Amino acid sequence: MGRAFVQKRDPDIATAIILPRCRICNQVPAGGIRGGIKINKAFICTPCEQEITNMDARSAEYRIIIEKIKRILK
Ligand SMILES: [Zn+2]
Repeated sequence: MGRAFVQKRDPDIATAIILPRCRICNQVPAGGIRGGIKINKAFICTPCEQEITNMDARSAEYRIIIEKIKRILK
């Protein structure tokens, strides 16, 4: 029930099999590509994304992560 609809909504279902590795923590999220966001060709998992969002912009960890992201984006 509703299966055809799900397949129509997710034409990229085959890509979910390819497990991406987070560029921040080097972990492979359990949800695969759906467990995070893609920036350029890099991948950042949801926990890291949320951590960045909630980080103090003046903290040292934030600066380290921003440096990593800059390297991804260049
Ligand atoms: Zn991560």
